[in-house]
Amino acid sequence: MELLNNNIIFNTIDNGIMILDENLNIKAWNKWLEVKTGIKSDEIVNHCICERFPYIEQKKLVRKIKSVLITKNASFFSVEPHEYLIKIKSNIIMGKVFKYMRQDITLVPYDLERRLVCLYIYDHTKLHESSEKLKKLNEELKDLSSKDHLTQLYNRRYFGEAAATMQSLSVRNNHHISIIILDVDNFKHINDNYGHSIGDKVIVSLSRILENNCRKSDIVARWGGEEFVILLYNTTLGYAQSVAENIRKNVEDFYVEVKEDKLKFTISLGVSEFEPEIDKDLECTISRADKGLYTAKANGKNMVVVN
Ligand code: GH3
Ligand code: MG
Ligand code: MG
Repeated sequence: MELLNNNIIFNTIDNGIMILDENLNIKAWNKWLEVKTGIKSDEIVNHCICERFPYIEQKKLVRKIKSVLITKNASFFSVEPHEYLIKIKSNIIMGKVFKYMRQDITLVPYDLERRLVCLYIYDHTKLHESSEKLKKLNEELKDLSSKDHLTQLYNRRYFGEAAATMQSLSVRNNHHISIIILDVDNFKHINDNYGHSIGDKVIVSLSRILENNCRKSDIVARWGGEEFVILLYNTTLGYAQSVAENIRKNVEDFYVEVKEDKLKFTISLGVSEFEPEIDKDLECTISRADKGLYTAKANGKNMVVVN
């Protein structure tokens, strides 16, 4: 390997190169590896790679080297779950996502007679960082398009999509779906007397009460203004009615602090269950629940009406 050790390309290329025999003994170690690991070539050559880096999956690497020597073809070596073969601290300073360098590894046959392979280490940290950032950005974007800005609840558009999925799931599995639709009583009065920002505070507080009364499998959404809708999956009408009644009571007992004042408010609720025989789709159920809500308003507000 003397020849290789003094080779300019071998020592100036911008990725790690080492020569390994089939017993994982290192036969050559380029400058890039010396610089990145702080281990000099003469300290490591003729030592087994797993001696120095015990976290390397020995059996897997041996298997891979053998297959490269048999097939005489280059091959990618996956380094999951660590995403590195050799642990090297990432040198990215700004906007760092990964602590250690993300590496892609390629093995190529080097000397078939002496059963040697060449192992390339590529630093793909920046590439992985960008795709990770993109993924995060996409998630945020998805959140933005499905969530209501003020309450962080789902918006009406997302609710519609999710409801359609839940509907087909419920028909297939013979599960009940119930709908609660609710609206703040005399909200205009709150806005007029306390101002729009206190009105917003009421909407946000109510959202948290709704979330606290629902399960993860339920979908709570802001239907518009001070109106909300809840889809309760695998829930009968009777149970949904008791959930609605609990929410109503929780709201009745709650208040928003406005300076020394305690601002109390109430809500009216309509409840319906999806009945595949009579409801063409969940929109019909929502519409029935909405009629229930209308009746609650007409009959004095602060009540639950099943329809
Ligand atoms: P009812 O008891 O019959 O429901 O009467 P209400 O006064 O609550 O109903 P109405 O629909 O007349 O008033 C709703 C008001 O909600 C009108 C609108 O200006 C206000 N509103 C809608 N969205 C928001 C919001 O995001 N923040 C605030 N503060 N007010 C909003
Ligand atoms: Mg209202
Ligand atoms: Mg309203």
